Amino acid sequence: MGRVVAVANQKGGVGKTTTAINLAAALALSGHRTLLIDLDPQGSATTGVGRHSSDLHGNVYEVVIDGRAAAEVTHPTSVENLDVMPATRDLVGAEVELVNLPDREHRLFTAIAPIREAYEYLLIDCPPSLGLLTVNALRAADGVLVPLQAEYYALEGLTALLDTVGRVRDALNPTLALDGLVLTMFDGRNSLARQVQTEVRTHFGSQVYSTVIPRNVRLSESPSHGVPVLIYDPSSRGSVAYQALAVEVLTQQHAAPSGTVARPG
Ligand code: ADP
Ligand code: MG
Repeated sequence: MGRVVAVANQKGGVGKTTTAINLAAALALSGHRTLLIDLDPQGSATTGVGRHSSDLHGNVYEVVIDGRAAAEVTHPTSVENLDVMPATRDLVGAEVELVNLPDREHRLFTAIAPIREAYEYLLIDCPPSLGLLTVNALRAADGVLVPLQAEYYALEGLTALLDTVGRVRDALNPTLALDGLVLTMFDGRNSLARQVQTEVRTHFGSQVYSTVIPRNVRLSESPSHGVPVLIYDPSSRGSVAYQALAVEVLTQQHAAPSGTVARPG
């Protein structure tokens, strides 16, 4: 069963989509079948791997709202071992439509259950809110990965996010883990960024990935070319950093959910 990881932070512009795309690509390129689930109406994860929902049959909205089979809406990308479940603007409405649907928090979980065997990792790029789409992602996830921009307000809002994770764990998904926090857009020459890193590591200790994602222009250029940075500029600092993050993710030990056996490695 593939591990489902929600890349979440209700703040916009902190590096969720960049992390989802490039971590997914790094996992895929190291030989692990990976699905990138685009749960943001912006659809940036979809276009970032070179696909356009208008050319594709099926999207995540139909899966979550209409109950369409997830297997019908996974599409290959230009990256070997990487598939994408695209998002469309329709997802804007999903937030409201979900309210009146049965099992409104469980719909993504139920939908992807039949395809989890086909992948080793399923990464969900969450929208910048703590609404029902993000709750669906947290319900469906085994772990949450939180990108934090290394800037003054990095920790603002983190309490609300961690509260939401706690509530989802209590009410919907008892085995949900905090896989880790990752500092993004880090500029080591900036003393404030270094200070933020110290503060985050002091506060969260081993829950912070050792890998820090540097501010790197290649990471912001690659989406307009429709490829992850690992393809656009494999030796760039951004590419190297996401490969290092993938190694950390691959070697991370996870507590076994009750009633199951720990996966080797
Ligand atoms: P979110 O999904 O949280 O809104 P994005 O991943 O879309 O955030 O990032 C916001 C903007 O910052 C995008 O334009 C992206 O290209 C850019 N960006 C993200 N990470 C980096 C980085 N490490 N270095 C440079 N630019 C980055
Ligand atoms: Mg995004």
